[in-house]
Amino acid sequence: MAPHWDQSEAVLAVGDRIAPSGYAWIFPWGRHRVRAGVGIIHPDSRANPDDFLDRFIASYDGLRGAQPVEHHSGLIPSEQFAKTFTGNGIVGVGDAAGHASSLVGEGIRWAIEAGRMAGDAAADALDRGDVSRAALLAFEKQWRKKFGADLRLAYRINQRIARWDDRKWDERLEIVKLLTPFQFAEALKSNFTGGWLWRFLASNPHALAHAARLKTS
Ligand SMILES: Cc1cc2nc3c(=O)[nH]c(=O)nc-3n(C[C@H](O)[C@H](O)[C@H](O)COP(=O)(O)OP(=O)(O)OC[C@H]3O[C@@H](n4cnc5c(N)ncnc54)[C@H](O)[C@@H]3O)c2cc1C
Repeated sequence: MAPHWDQSEAVLAVGDRIAPSGYAWIFPWGRHRVRAGVGIIHPDSRANPDDFLDRFIASYDGLRGAQPVEHHSGLIPSEQFAKTFTGNGIVGVGDAAGHASSLVGEGIRWAIEAGRMAGDAAADALDRGDVSRAALLAFEKQWRKKFGADLRLAYRINQRIARWDDRKWDERLEIVKLLTPFQFAEALKSNFTGGWLWRFLASNPHALAHAARLKTS
């Protein structure tokens, strides 16, 4: 419970003292509650997120008087999606196939999308009486076409930003500030192929130069 938190406010925080090679968050959760957490990419850092959580929470005045309701911890693969995730009579979806966005560790929506797509492909394969890898490969191709480019880019960006120190974050945040709220939300969702990114880069040459370095590194 976080009685004083403004439920229209979300926080994403970065920095060596907050979450080395990662980030911390506070998201409103309704009914005077928030979800607060710290995520750290291993092995880029060996730090334990729990060692940072209490200090992070204590640093926000809006969380004064907050009481813990639940505590969750776990792992999420911070890797590019699997080279292949179909076999004879089997398909992989969600975290097991590396379908989450490694940019912010968002995996629920991606797992649901992949699960739906895989379910349709499995039903088709069963109708046709052929559940071989060749038959199920249609799912993998469809998934790659729809999500592959976005998640590949999310992974590359994450690889880069996980190595940024505080000075670099301060520098790069100047570019992030150029994004509109819509563009920032699209970036957080790892939706890079919707056309907005090219329009943003075309009108911000400084950001374009950074993007070019990302592509060639
Ligand atoms: C602390 C934390 C916070 C997160 N916050 C968010 C968030 O805010 N938003 C978001 O989008 N994502 C978040 N994620 C990531 C998200 O939880 C995962 O990406 C998502 O749950 C993946 O779904 P999944 O179905 O692939 O795997 P899971 O949700 O892990 O489901 C796999 C299931 O399989 C079961 N299982 C495993 N092995 C076996 C076995 N041998 N036999 C039978 N069952 C088995 C497991 O018990 C589990 O229930 C978070 C992850 C963590 C760890």
